[in-house]
Amino acid sequence: MLTQRLRKLQTISEPQRPYITLNGKRVLDFSSNDYLGLSQHPALIEATQKATAQYGTGTGGSRLIGGTLDLHTQLEEKIAQFKGAEKALVFNSGYQANIGVLAGLIKKTDHIFADRLNHASLVDGAILSRATVHRYRHLDMDHLEALLQHTPRKKWIVTDTVFSMDGDLAPLRKLYELADRYEAGLILDEAHATGVFPETAGEAIKIGTFSKALGSFGAYVAAREEIIQTLIQSSRSFIYSTALPPAVIAANLAALELISKDNSAHQTLWQNIRHWGAHSPIIPIVVGEDHAALTLSQNLFEVGFFVHAIRPPTVPEGTARLRLSISACHSSQHLDDLQQILSSRSIISCV
Ligand SMILES: *Cc1c(COP(=O)(O)O)cnc(C)c1O
Repeated sequence: MLTQRLRKLQTISEPQRPYITLNGKRVLDFSSNDYLGLSQHPALIEATQKATAQYGTGTGGSRLIGGTLDLHTQLEEKIAQFKGAEKALVFNSGYQANIGVLAGLIKKTDHIFADRLNHASLVDGAILSRATVHRYRHLDMDHLEALLQHTPRKKWIVTDTVFSMDGDLAPLRKLYELADRYEAGLILDEAHATGVFPETAGEAIKIGTFSKALGSFGAYVAAREEIIQTLIQSSRSFIYSTALPPAVIAANLAALELISKDNSAHQTLWQNIRHWGAHSPIIPIVVGEDHAALTLSQNLFEVGFFVHAIRPPTVPEGTARLRLSISACHSSQHLDDLQQILSSRSIISCV
C-alpha cells in the first residue's frame, strides 16, 4: 500500500467539545460528527447512568431472543412519532441498518438505482442483496430518470440525503416524484440529516443514526408497518446481533427528548453553518492529491486545528480533501480563526 494511503488510528484523549487532546496536544476539533455536542450533555450522561444502575450493562441476547427491553420498545415508539412514520426499528449501527435493510428488502431479481457517491454501507448492502445495481451520476436526476425508464420493476432508489464526504444535499422533492412516477421504492439514508435538517413528508423508508447529531450510538429505520415486519423476519444484521445495551438506548431516548423541547443547540449549529457560508455542517476542501491533503491537515494540526484528511477509496481518485465539520460547540471566533488560517498563504504554500 502506498504510504500516503495507509490509514492510521489516532487516539484522542480528554474530549471537551470542541477541544480534544491528540498526541499530547490540545486542538480545536473540526472532525467530529457530534454536530449538536450532545455526546457530552449532562442529560444524556445521567440517562446512561440511571439505565445502567437499573438494567445493568448488557442485554444478554439478540432482539428476537430475549434482548428486547422495554427501553428498546419505547425508543422505537418515540422514533416512529418523531419521524411521522407508522413504525420504527432500532439497529445496532447505521452500517448494520443499511446492509440489513437493503439485503432484507431487496430481491435478487430487483433493480437498485444508487447515487454514485452513496455511503459505503449502502454500497455493501446493495452487493449483499444480489440485485442488479445501476449507479447514477452524483445528484443527476436526468441520468436517474433515464435509467429508470429502461428498467422493468421492481425498482429501488437508494441515496444519502446529506452526502457524508461532500456535505451536499440530495434533491428530495425530485426523488419522491421519480419514485412515484416509476413505481420505485425510495430508501433514504439520513445519517447526517437526523437532528440537523427538518423532516420531509413523502413515502420513503428512512434510515437514520443516533451516532452523529444525536450524540450516542445505534440507528433506526422508520417506515410503514409492513416494511418493519419484513425486516424483523429477514434482516440478518438485525436478527443475528446482540441488542444494544440499556445505557445506549437510554442516551438515545434522552437525546430525542432533549431536541424536541430545546432547540438552542440546533439554532447555534445553523448560525455557525450560515456564518461559514455553508449549506450543511459538512464542508469539503478538495485539494486533489493525497499528499497535499495530508500535509494541509498536518499543518493545521501544528497551529491547533484537527481537520481530518480524507483520501481514496473513501472519496474518488484525485479528490483527496479536508473534511471539516461544524458543530454547535464552535463559537463564531473559532470559525473565523480557521477561515483565516485556511486563507493564509503559509498554510497552503507548504502543500
Ligand atoms: C455514518 C454513516 C453511516 C453509518 O452509521 P454508523 O451509525 O456510524 O454505523 C451510514 N450512512 C451514512 C451516510 C453515514 O454518514
